[in-house]
Amino acid sequence: MFNALVVNKDDEGKTSAEVTEMSLDQLPAADVTVAVEYSTVNYKDGLCIGPGGGLVRNYPHIPGIDFAGTVETSDDPRYKAGDKVVLTGWRVGEAHWGGYSQKARVKADWLVPLPNGLDTRQAMAVGTAGFTAMLAVMALEDHGIKSGPVLVTGAAGGVGSVATAILANLGHEVAGVTGRPETADYLKSLGATQIVAREEINETVKRPLEGETWGGCVDAVGGEMLARVLGQMQYGASVAAVGLAGGAGLPATVIPFLLRGVNLLGIDSVMQPYENRLRAWERISKDLPMDKLEAMVQPATLSDLPKLGKDILKGQVKGRVVVDVNA
Ligand code: NDP
Repeated sequence: MFNALVVNKDDEGKTSAEVTEMSLDQLPAADVTVAVEYSTVNYKDGLCIGPGGGLVRNYPHIPGIDFAGTVETSDDPRYKAGDKVVLTGWRVGEAHWGGYSQKARVKADWLVPLPNGLDTRQAMAVGTAGFTAMLAVMALEDHGIKSGPVLVTGAAGGVGSVATAILANLGHEVAGVTGRPETADYLKSLGATQIVAREEINETVKRPLEGETWGGCVDAVGGEMLARVLGQMQYGASVAAVGLAGGAGLPATVIPFLLRGVNLLGIDSVMQPYENRLRAWERISKDLPMDKLEAMVQPATLSDLPKLGKDILKGQVKGRVVVDVNA
C-alpha cells in the first residue's frame, strides 16, 4: 500500500483532493513502476488539483506533472530496478496519473535517467518549470541573444526564478519583472541586476513600438505583458514565450515583427523528444548554480498540496515548491 493525493469529482462537478491509501494494482498499466521520491508544484498542477480546466480526462485522478525517484520494476530493457529517473511532460499528471504519489507507473519513453551531478531532490527543485526555463534559454541562444539586459517576466515564479539564475550565471545582465516588490532582494540574490515593476511594462503608453531595450526575453506571463514587451525588444532580438500566467490573449500588432525583425519563439516542454530532454538536463546541471537553486526551494508534503495548488494559481508561490511525497 502507498499514499497518493487523489482528486475526485462529485455529481455536481465539484472537485476535492485528499491524501488516500492506494494499492499497486490500482495504478495504470505501463512498463516502468517508480518509487517516487519528490515531485513539485507547477501552474498546471494548480489547475489539476482544482477543477481541471480540461486538463484532467478522468476522475479519480492523481496530479503531479513531474517526479524523480527510483525504478522498482521495469519491463523495458532501458531501465532496471534501482535506476534513478526523472519525468517531465507527456501529459503525466493530466491525462495519466502523476507524481503526487509514492508510486507511479509510466511509459519508459517518458523517463530520462537522473542527470549527472543532480540528486532526485535537486532534479525536482528544477522540475518542469526549471526544465522549461532551460529550453527557453537554449531557444534564445539558438537565435542569438543581443547585448543589453535580458528580460524575465513573472520573475519570482518558478520558470522566472530558474531563468533568472541561469541567464545571470551565463553572464547576461538580467532584468526581472515582478508584481511583488518584496521579492526584489530574492531576485537580486539569483543574479537579477534590475527589478522592473509589473505596472512599468503593463501601463506604459501603448504604442506598437517603444524604445529598443531588451536583448532577449523569457516570458512566463503572456497576455498584455507579452504584447508590450514585443514592442520593447532590440532589433532582431527574440522572446521565448513560455506561459500564460497573465492571460492567454495576445493584444499585439505585427509591427514589432515587420519593423524590428523580432522573433517570437514558442516553448513547449511537454512533447520534447528524448535527445532534447537529455541535452536540456545536461545544460541544467552545468549552468544552474546549486546554491541559487537551493535559495528558490520551499519544501512541502502531500497534505500541503490542496492549499499550494490554489496559491500558485493566484501567483502567490515564490520560486519552486519541492514535494517530499514520503514525508
Ligand atoms: P508560477 O505561478 O510559479 O509563476 C508565474 C509568475 O507570473 C507569478 O509568480 C507572477 O510573478 C507572475 N504573474 C502571475 N499572475 C500574473 C498576472 N496576472 N500578470 C502578470 N504577471 C503575473 O508559475 P510557473 O513559473 O510554474 O509557470 C509560469 C507559466 O508558464 C504558467 O502559465 C505555466 O502554465 C507555464 N508553463 C509552460 C510550460 C511549457 O511547456 N510551455 C512549462 C511550465 C510552465 P511575479 O509575482 O514575479 O510578478
